[in-house]
Amino acid sequence: MTTKPLTTAAFFRMFPDDETCLKHLFDVRFGDGFECPKCERASKWFRIKAERAYSCQWCGHHLHPTVGTPFEKTRTPLQLWFYAIHLFTTTRHGVSAKELERQLGVTYKTAWRMAKLIREHMADVDGDRPIGGPFKTVEIDETFVGGHRENGQGGKGKAVVFGMLERGGDVVTEVVADRKSGTLLPHVIKHVQPHTEVHTDELRSYGGLGTLKGYWHKQVNHSEGEYVSDTGTTVNAIENFWRHLKCSITGTHVSVRPKYLGLYAKEFEYRFNRRNRPETMLPELLSTFRPLPQSCD
Ligand SMILES: [Zn+2]
Repeated sequence: MTTKPLTTAAFFRMFPDDETCLKHLFDVRFGDGFECPKCERASKWFRIKAERAYSCQWCGHHLHPTVGTPFEKTRTPLQLWFYAIHLFTTTRHGVSAKELERQLGVTYKTAWRMAKLIREHMADVDGDRPIGGPFKTVEIDETFVGGHRENGQGGKGKAVVFGMLERGGDVVTEVVADRKSGTLLPHVIKHVQPHTEVHTDELRSYGGLGTLKGYWHKQVNHSEGEYVSDTGTTVNAIENFWRHLKCSITGTHVSVRPKYLGLYAKEFEYRFNRRNRPETMLPELLSTFRPLPQSCD
């Protein structure tokens, strides 16, 4: 099995048209022999040409494979949606709406909406698994993104992104209102399991960490020019993640409104968490959807 993401040529061999895309959604969500929610009999399902739907062989009930997916309320061809997702899984620096507009030949407004829904979908699929635990180390750090001043304590328009990164494992990010301990620590409690070794810099807000949930707290003293302490304490991995996120936002998007920053961070979080298995991203994003009752026809 290859660990490389699909090439563009392979993508178009796999999804040559809209019909193939719809069939794919039907297969991963229902499949032939799927029990009809209305008459409760195992059915063959027939494609209804007039809409994106399949019909029960017994009672004529309709199944809509796009309901509950990012592709539900759209007239944009499914193949373009799938291709846009392919682009999101094969980039290192993110995909701008401008880029989607060019590549897909859709309007900027459509491209922008697609990008937003795809990011939300990536965030959804990535989910909220807890990180850390006994014998694991989690680096915790916060950073300012955007705004007018690059340095200092948060110029106008800057947003704070808070992150927790398990060494060798997953990262979790949250956009937060400020850097107070009352703001940051609840996120740590929510995402990081008890008995984790947690590394931070010297920010005072992290002072209370050692008394929480049995965490073992170590701090590195950046203000004294220390980046790896003699006990091996560092937040270099999460700082690398920040660097990559910021470079990409500057390079790909120029700037991002604070309101949407969380979603961009989640996009990068999704890819980072699959950095050792990039080939699984497209199949996962095209087959993982919220279960939804198909009660209406
Ligand atoms: Zn039926």
